[in-house]
Amino acid sequence: MSVLESQVVPFHRALIEQEEIDAVLDVLNSGWLTTGPKTHEFEVAFARYLGASHALAVSSCTAALELALAAIGIQEGDEIILPTMTFAATGEVILHLKAVPVLVDCESSTMHIAADEVERAITRRTRAIIPVHYAGAPCDMDRLLEIGNRKDLRVIEDAAHALPTGYKNRLIGTLGDITCFSFYATKTLTTGEGGMATTEHEDYAERMRILSLHGISKDAWKRYSAQGTWRYDIIEAGYKFNLTDMQAALGLAQLAKCDAMCERRAAVARRYTESLKSLDAFEVPRLPGNGTHSWHLYPIRINPPALRIHRDRVIEELKQKGIGTSVHFIPLHLHSFYRTHFKCYAGQFPNAERFAEQALSLPIFPSMTKDDVDRVIESLQEIARDFGR
Ligand SMILES: *Cc1c(COP(=O)(O)O)cnc(C)c1O
Repeated sequence: MSVLESQVVPFHRALIEQEEIDAVLDVLNSGWLTTGPKTHEFEVAFARYLGASHALAVSSCTAALELALAAIGIQEGDEIILPTMTFAATGEVILHLKAVPVLVDCESSTMHIAADEVERAITRRTRAIIPVHYAGAPCDMDRLLEIGNRKDLRVIEDAAHALPTGYKNRLIGTLGDITCFSFYATKTLTTGEGGMATTEHEDYAERMRILSLHGISKDAWKRYSAQGTWRYDIIEAGYKFNLTDMQAALGLAQLAKCDAMCERRAAVARRYTESLKSLDAFEVPRLPGNGTHSWHLYPIRINPPALRIHRDRVIEELKQKGIGTSVHFIPLHLHSFYRTHFKCYAGQFPNAERFAEQALSLPIFPSMTKDDVDRVIESLQEIARDFGR
């Protein structure tokens, strides 16, 4: 039996239906596989969905983040402030541009980058801030954008979790200098692998587009279409970060049900919160006060005074009951790479560390059934009863 088969409720399952399958088959039959008309259509539809001026489809959120930093002109030795509570991608792209990642702690309740810590970390060399909309709740963008304006820093958002996430009357993807989304297999919209960068700045959009395909000054697909010529010019050392039309077709089919999928995750989140909030053993995530949640993740925290077992044992107990969970994230500063090269140490960022010791993400995906959700809730109730104090 595979891991997936042995699980009664997996941590995640993408919602792939006939529309997605048909859309990809159409592309396969069309004869045009890589970046072309479908990718263009996906970019236009995505920008329209968010209300953004420009959208560039790329091979991953990691690629989008690296392009964003290159587009704003990050150079060797520049400092970029980011939360320690994030995935590997947010930090590594800074290093690929020979810039310096400056990690800071998070707000204890949201795991969003702590704005006061950002202010303290700013030096003469600081060029940008990368907030992460952890789990899918929006960061305090007014405050971060105000800091950015006052200190002349660009704000590049890691929105890998934030589709769709509302902030006040807008959607994430229209606020900062550049916003980066992920279409990785477990994210709220998937193309298997993929990503998107959105921006209101035409110059950033243009620079990212050129860099995303070898630093060539014309879209490659235009070269092979009626509008194009065979002539091209390399204007800088670029990357190979384009999205394929097969992926874009999948993305378009997913985008059409993005709101419906979000509503189904929100319904799961409501049922979890309703049933778990009365248990002392667990703390449930709060609703954002400044917008709406995409519910990419539903991270609960164990409450040590009310539970005799550690979080790791809770994960093990749930696994025995056939329930898949995950931990988001092990803070960057605790990884050996950051300890070795940046003299990071345990105890450096207490809020992130405490959370990382206590948190676990429950299954949440659009095709979860009422039985699936009940099964997770009952399992946690059993754990609270068996190991509570
Ligand atoms: C998934 C994720 C990424 C990377 O996304 P890819 O599309 O896999 O490159 C970046 N940041 C965060 C916070 C993520 O969760």
